[in-house]
Amino acid sequence: MRKLASVRRIKKVEPIQGADRIETATVDGWQVVVKKGDFKEGDLCIYFEIDSWIPDTLAPFLTSVGKEPREYKGVKGQRLKTVKLRKQLSQGLILPVPSTIQDHITEGQDVTDVFGIVKWEQEEAEPSTGYKGKKVWTAKSFPTHLFPKTDQERIQNVFDLRPKDHTYELTVKLDGSSCSIFRHEGRLRVCSRNIELAIVEKDDHWLVAWLKRLVGMQPKRKTLGNHFVDMAVKLGPRIPEGYCFQGELCGPSIQDNYEQLGDFGFYVYDVVHLATREYLPAEERQLLVNNQKLFHVPVLEQHAVYPNSIEEALHLADNTPSMYNPKAEGIVYKSRKDPNLSFKAISNNYLLYKDSKGD
Ligand code: AMP
Ligand code: MN
Repeated sequence: MRKLASVRRIKKVEPIQGADRIETATVDGWQVVVKKGDFKEGDLCIYFEIDSWIPDTLAPFLTSVGKEPREYKGVKGQRLKTVKLRKQLSQGLILPVPSTIQDHITEGQDVTDVFGIVKWEQEEAEPSTGYKGKKVWTAKSFPTHLFPKTDQERIQNVFDLRPKDHTYELTVKLDGSSCSIFRHEGRLRVCSRNIELAIVEKDDHWLVAWLKRLVGMQPKRKTLGNHFVDMAVKLGPRIPEGYCFQGELCGPSIQDNYEQLGDFGFYVYDVVHLATREYLPAEERQLLVNNQKLFHVPVLEQHAVYPNSIEEALHLADNTPSMYNPKAEGIVYKSRKDPNLSFKAISNNYLLYKDSKGD
């Protein structure tokens, strides 16, 4: 679980040029615009990370005057976005420590549950049960006993926690949908980020008939489920027994096709050896992906040194092109020594662009 709200110490408070009512407070790698005079260097505070869903009761001022708060998972409130105020980037929310809990907290403490914060997630068009032609699929729970779900920590939270003396495989972060395709005990299987889509063989006549009844007689054509199942079936012959390929499924209709692809593509960033549940080292993974005629996410550097600062990595993220889009969503660092140790630097320009659109 991610710490969305935590007790942190204010590192710096700085003026904003041309603004007399607001200033910038820095907490770890994050800069947040606050009301002038509310905080000073060294103060303990509660920091809420971007994409936290903040209940209206906690911070009613997040909703503009005269407007109704939004609603997410039954809670009225607002999502913390990346914004610019007077040209100053602001990410997240800082609140003073409530006096009621002052004596019970310590720096670094996770208070996500104390404040009832949940992570806002774009309604991932979760693949449902459906069918198209003779292919039928249905949702099942994610097989975490076989391999882990995909995720990456933000550099702002882990900069001091990752080994600085390792070299890192630096890849482009693609903006699509997480997809895991694997073969286990002879069967080809596929997962989205949070669930498995059970592919039903087309000669399981009774099962097909039963599922068609279950989904109603209307085939669901444009659901995300189609794309996962189609891709898995297409790549099936290239997926060897005992391996799980985790990658980004990109293409038209996924994330507004940020990657600007003409057709669907599956780009691998991890391979799990199912027998040991371990990630393959970068070199082995890249070789296997090549040999199986699959695509790999673009590798920017095979042995990158650890970034000197959060700012340096964010600057690189802002200036890295993706495959077709001249501006990538971001970059991902993965230790060459231990593929479990990785983190992402998302381009702030990308966040500003995404957060200014829709929702
Ligand atoms: P986020 O998209 O912000 O939730 O970040 C984590 C996700 O980035 C992972 O679950 C992957 O689906 C995705 N991703 C895209 N490109 C890469 C990459 N090069 N390395 C690792 N993960 C990636
Ligand atoms: Mn993503």
